[in-house]
Amino acid sequence: MQFATQGLIVRESSVGESDRLVWILTKDEGLLRAFVRKAKEMKSRTAGATQLLCYSDLKIYRGKERYIVSEAKPIKVFFELYEDITALSLAQYFCELAGKFAPEGTPAEAYLRLLLNALFYLSRGERPQALLKAAVEMRILALSGFMPDLVACAQCGEYLTDRTYFYPQKGSFLCENCHRPSPEPCYELSRGAISALRHTIYADFEKLFAFSLSPQSEAELAAAAEGYAVSSIGYRMKTLDFYHKILTT
Ligand SMILES: [Zn+2]
Repeated sequence: MQFATQGLIVRESSVGESDRLVWILTKDEGLLRAFVRKAKEMKSRTAGATQLLCYSDLKIYRGKERYIVSEAKPIKVFFELYEDITALSLAQYFCELAGKFAPEGTPAEAYLRLLLNALFYLSRGERPQALLKAAVEMRILALSGFMPDLVACAQCGEYLTDRTYFYPQKGSFLCENCHRPSPEPCYELSRGAISALRHTIYADFEKLFAFSLSPQSEAELAAAAEGYAVSSIGYRMKTLDFYHKILTT
């Protein structure tokens, strides 16, 4: 049986002499693994449209045990990402996050829309990478059942104080009056940073990437979001470490 859908290639690997296996984040079927047969011999358009970070119109054959891409036509290729190793490595982290959390066998439009928009802004270089990264981390976790409670202080219900303290293991925060030093890791946030962290999970999708912060608040937001991602996932993804390595070289 063959079906048509749109999808973003989030991972690829070679299989044997000339076949490739690709992980596709599709609109209608969520994340799926599909073979691209004899990719080197296929028309270059189809082969090109099944490469990493390509968003394509796809025709996919569903066999008994495997999916096979029978036709692919590019809708959007984020060429600019290949010219910037930092942006590219961040894009690969976004792909690894999607590969871990997007559902299989059910529609995943929210994940796809999140990734496509993030890659669009990342490729244009119009938004600070730290903001894009925090927004993607928090949003993808919220979509995947890791929704933190950022409405108010977990102890007294205070909405906002000058400093707040976000606890990634609990997914909640304490205001400056309730916070006491403890061995549990937490992130100190300014008013701007906690407001931005709230924005990443509560804002309408259309406004998700539309915010700006002072450099100090931006750094606090980035640390808190990454801390929450690592804590929720339970380990540091390789692509995350690679991104940091690139940033510091
Ligand atoms: Zn409090």
